[in-house]
Amino acid sequence: MSSIEGEQFSFFHGVERNFEKASRFTNISKGLLEEIKSCNSVLKVKFPVKLGEDIQVIEAFRVQHSHHHSPCKGGVRFSEDVNQDEVMALAALMTYKCAVVDVPFGGAKGGVKINPKNYSVSDLERITRRYTAELYKKNFIGPGIDVPAPDYGTSAREMSWILDTYRSLNPQDINASACVTGKPVTQGGINGRAEATGLGVFYGIREACSYEEDMAKIGLKPGVKGKEVVVQGLGNVGYHAANFLKYAGAKLVGLIEYEGGIYDPEGLDLDKVIEIRNATGSILNVDAPIKEENSTKALEWECDILIPAAKESVIHKENAGRIRAKIIGEAANGPLTPDADDILFEKNIMVIPDTYLNAGGVTVSYFEWLQNLSHIRFGRLEKRFTESRYHEIVSIAEDLSGKSVNEAARKLLRGPAEEDFVYSGLEETMVLAYKEVRDTFHAIEEVRDLRTAAYILAINRIGSSYTEFGIFP
Ligand code: NAD
Repeated sequence: MSSIEGEQFSFFHGVERNFEKASRFTNISKGLLEEIKSCNSVLKVKFPVKLGEDIQVIEAFRVQHSHHHSPCKGGVRFSEDVNQDEVMALAALMTYKCAVVDVPFGGAKGGVKINPKNYSVSDLERITRRYTAELYKKNFIGPGIDVPAPDYGTSAREMSWILDTYRSLNPQDINASACVTGKPVTQGGINGRAEATGLGVFYGIREACSYEEDMAKIGLKPGVKGKEVVVQGLGNVGYHAANFLKYAGAKLVGLIEYEGGIYDPEGLDLDKVIEIRNATGSILNVDAPIKEENSTKALEWECDILIPAAKESVIHKENAGRIRAKIIGEAANGPLTPDADDILFEKNIMVIPDTYLNAGGVTVSYFEWLQNLSHIRFGRLEKRFTESRYHEIVSIAEDLSGKSVNEAARKLLRGPAEEDFVYSGLEETMVLAYKEVRDTFHAIEEVRDLRTAAYILAINRIGSSYTEFGIFP
């Protein structure tokens, strides 16, 4: 449970409310809906870690929300706000997210209740390794059981510790590298995973902005180019989403971190802002015409696209009425409460839901897991073959035409490498899933928003996997 404006709020109940709103538009039986909605397994552990001269007891969780596919999949969060309700909600969102983008995993999530900023690197390593050992003891990790990934407060570094610990406990498992994704590329990670969630956010926003009639309804022209964007949270997801949007021609007018936000109608230089923040410790040291010390207040800045990319429940019934964005792209998990959804609907603000928009991370994690299990890099077999075929075709064309291809064009003749497959696989996934969500939205007249449409799509997909294979026993 977390507190919003002094009131207790259950994130998990918020997810359940969204589920229930959507489930009445499906033909799935009451019992099966209950099974899809429930959290299947909840692990809560407290373990001691020797830090310096003393022992510290750390609280941690792993929740497997759904086993309709194996393994379960979901990130591990390091944050002092971690609690069971939050991890259950995040695990449930993983189930629906995987279903929306048709990635065959059940949903899971992990959380370690620490503020990583308060620990040295070697302390963090000890905590991560001990957490992994706890997961292993309780059968909550393994390539076919449950596969963690990075989330808020963790990165490739923590994933490499998880892998190493799991591997040392399972020296005989030739698939051990598939026990965790988001690893460094040198340890079985995949090129493109680090930026995958932010890239997926970009593809999703680009798709949403590409429909002229949808944009007209909120008073915008189609396309990302020229759109004014505010991003909250410049970590893994927020930074990469902002970067890809900038390359596509959007203008970053507002950037927000936990210590405050800066706004410049002429546009901000993302890398310079990060550089100054890293050097001085605060985004407020950047020279900008408008500064705001209250990071929540900064969400109210006027813009075309607002991207919350930090934590859940940042837009709620108290501040939703003051939001002035035309589109909200949910890069974070659960940044809007259900009450906020209702208020934003009345204000004609388009919400691109988390269950679709931030699925890029798990999609590329799926590619990484497949690559680990197949023990071969994407492109290794066909790269050179494809390249020589391109060259043969071009030389035949050159012979027939008597003209030769210039050097710049010749560079395009290279065969596809791992990153090319990852980017194109992710783009295809995000484009197709947006179309499916949008088609679901248009197919049912009473459905008012894309979130409900995404849930309907997910519930139907999960439901059909049960009816196809039956429930044991
Ligand atoms: P991160 O730890 O890399 O970055 C989070 C950033 O948000 C940090 O820079 C932090 O300082 C900032 N922040 C914290 N509180 C803030 C506040 N009140 N206002 C402004 N900024 C604040 O985490 P991340 O991996 O980028 O995850 C961000 C969100 O995206 C989370 O909700 C996470 O669950 C979700 N998500 C992450 C992934 C992934 O692949 N990492 C995938 C899907 C969803």
